[in-house]
Amino acid sequence: MTKRGQINPVTGITDGKLRTLLKSNLRPIWRNTSRKEFIKSVRRKATNPKTGRLWNVVDCKDCGLVMGVSEKKRRVKRDGTLEKKAKSVYEVDHVNGITPMVDIRETLGEYWHTLIYGEMEIVCVPCHKKRTAKQRAETRNN
Ligand SMILES: [Zn+2]
Repeated sequence: MTKRGQINPVTGITDGKLRTLLKSNLRPIWRNTSRKEFIKSVRRKATNPKTGRLWNVVDCKDCGLVMGVSEKKRRVKRDGTLEKKAKSVYEVDHVNGITPMVDIRETLGEYWHTLIYGEMEIVCVPCHKKRTAKQRAETRNN
């Protein structure tokens, strides 16, 4: 492990950049495997109020909001404007968080394990924001 901000001569990038790269490449694997299977295991059929036809829905664990499994909306950015691309109206939250990746060699295995096998719950985007803020505050206090 090299010093903070120092470029590793083997990879040509800093360890921080490598961690970011690893995370952003592992997340799509999660999305296509255990996240997908989890959604399949909790989804149910309900009548779409807009069309009157049956569709697959999930429920927000925190507020009970019923959302279409493939329902997408443009999210509001921090500056109040809308994001360019529509995204899922819900998030799959890792209830116990994901083990932070610190030293890659020592923590990548745990990071991976908690990302893929950690307990998950469906939450709507506003409830997920509240959870993330709460988790951040707790991490700071520990
Ligand atoms: Zn909610």
